[in-house]
Amino acid sequence: MSEQVKYFFHRHKRLLLTLGACFIAILLISIVAVKSSQTSKIEDNVQTTAPTNITFIMPVQDGVIIKDYSSTALKFNSTLKQWEAHKAVDIKGSDNAEVKAVYQGEVVSVESDYLRGNVVTIKHSDNLQTVYASLADDVKVKVGDKVKQGDVIGMVSTSAKGELNDGPHLHFEVLLNGVKADPNLYLENSNK
Ligand SMILES: [Zn+2]
Repeated sequence: MSEQVKYFFHRHKRLLLTLGACFIAILLISIVAVKSSQTSKIEDNVQTTAPTNITFIMPVQDGVIIKDYSSTALKFNSTLKQWEAHKAVDIKGSDNAEVKAVYQGEVVSVESDYLRGNVVTIKHSDNLQTVYASLADDVKVKVGDKVKQGDVIGMVSTSAKGELNDGPHLHFEVLLNGVKADPNLYLENSNK
């Protein structure tokens, strides 16, 4: 190494070390960024619709959808005073209107939660599950029950304190492969 080069390195040692450290840091950040974008691509590919002949009946007869499904668009929750994605449909019903199983299946959970109220989950074929939230305390099914399409599982209420201002309604979700899907894709008489 010539004296000039040695001198240059000696003189700018700290600067060169800093630049080297910056370079390594940028490299590491880039690797992490690429890795995480690959992961999110995989998540995006999770099927949210699948070929199925299953058609769900409306869980609340003559029910009117008062808050529709949105996967990314934010909807205002007037109870919690916040904007949120609403991966469900809210179906209005008079207090104590019957809630019916939309398709045959097996009850896999019956839970109670402050924000979601009384919640029943039914597992169907084709990797589909349906979730019925904001049910009245008097839930008509228990875990392990086999239900037929149209069986009454409970009643509409305001038990979901997270959606109290919307009045008595059913908060209805559809899961495909464990991921929330648009219920309108499966509900009869849906205009989607
Ligand atoms: Zn809801």
